[in-house]
Amino acid sequence: MIISMKLHATPQEIAEVRKKVEEFGYKVHSIEGEERVVIAVVGVGDVTACLESVEAMPQVENVVRITAPYKFVSKEFRQGRTRIRVGGVEIGGDEFVVMAGPCSVESEEQIMRAAEGVAQAGAKILRGGAFKPRTSPYDFQGMEEEGLKLLRKAKQATGLAIITEIMGDRDVNLVAEYADILQVGARNMQNFVLLKALGKCGKPILLKRGMSSTVKELLMSAEYIVAHGNPEVILCERGIRTFETVTRNTCDIAAIPALQELTHLPIVLDPSHATGKRSLVPALSRAGVAIGADGLIVEVHPAPEKAVSDGAQSLDIPQFQRMMQELKPYIQLWQESRKKEVAAAAGR
Ligand code: PEP
Ligand code: MN
Repeated sequence: MIISMKLHATPQEIAEVRKKVEEFGYKVHSIEGEERVVIAVVGVGDVTACLESVEAMPQVENVVRITAPYKFVSKEFRQGRTRIRVGGVEIGGDEFVVMAGPCSVESEEQIMRAAEGVAQAGAKILRGGAFKPRTSPYDFQGMEEEGLKLLRKAKQATGLAIITEIMGDRDVNLVAEYADILQVGARNMQNFVLLKALGKCGKPILLKRGMSSTVKELLMSAEYIVAHGNPEVILCERGIRTFETVTRNTCDIAAIPALQELTHLPIVLDPSHATGKRSLVPALSRAGVAIGADGLIVEVHPAPEKAVSDGAQSLDIPQFQRMMQELKPYIQLWQESRKKEVAAAAGR
């Protein structure tokens, strides 16, 4: 159950509602939105009696019964799409947003060349890991704050917004100082301490699906972030681990429309980690546009053969530019279909 308070509800009135709900044996979680306070009710109790009783309270705007275990991120909570503004673009809105850049920030020259190349090709957000989760402790672990500073330089030079990975709760403030979007990697999708800390970071989060996680587990992880105060979560399908070995991961392309039936959050596709092979990235990117994802996050490196991580799945800049050109007619169809959706919603 989700309770929306009226616009000018006072702390006293909110406390009264919380108290009433708790009397029915439920736990409450309130979120202070820009406009109003919303209270999520979780646990076991007499839902009908609680709902009727709370609905009658004077400062309650409305009460919605939500059956999914994830409350704030469910479609029952909000019809339509959540739009997340980053820099000059809106993810989940009328524009198909492409994020691109290297797997890791490696040097000033590398990130500058990558940033200029992807910006020219039409990407709006620069990716690049400064903290890297690596399978081997002997592999390059990232430039850390030095890398964040280089990302900032690239942002200043190109106007691109920055997305970069956050690996631990202790680094949240540091990374949030530099990043426009904080990326939670597949390996950290269920790092609940981190997810809770991200609820308070004040920046949008891109949450990647864990490599052995179900769609519902992904939504529960998103719920952690939202329930702890941050409604700006972007989901990312990046492939899951299966028995198949031809691709690095198996892209669960159907997860995208499946998620759209379950949540109002935007969803992007990562065709690079989903395949592990640069030759497959353009085809999968087309699939992402066609299936109605809100955007892509693609690995692009000025010299993939020299990349310290994920070179085999990184496009070089001319390849990325070609792919962006080839995506144009698909993106046009995507935009027409979004327009129709908005018109249909307005006529409803
Ligand atoms: C990455 O984006 O470079 C990365 C490590 O991705 P994932 O968490 O999806 O493996
Ligand atoms: Mn990578």
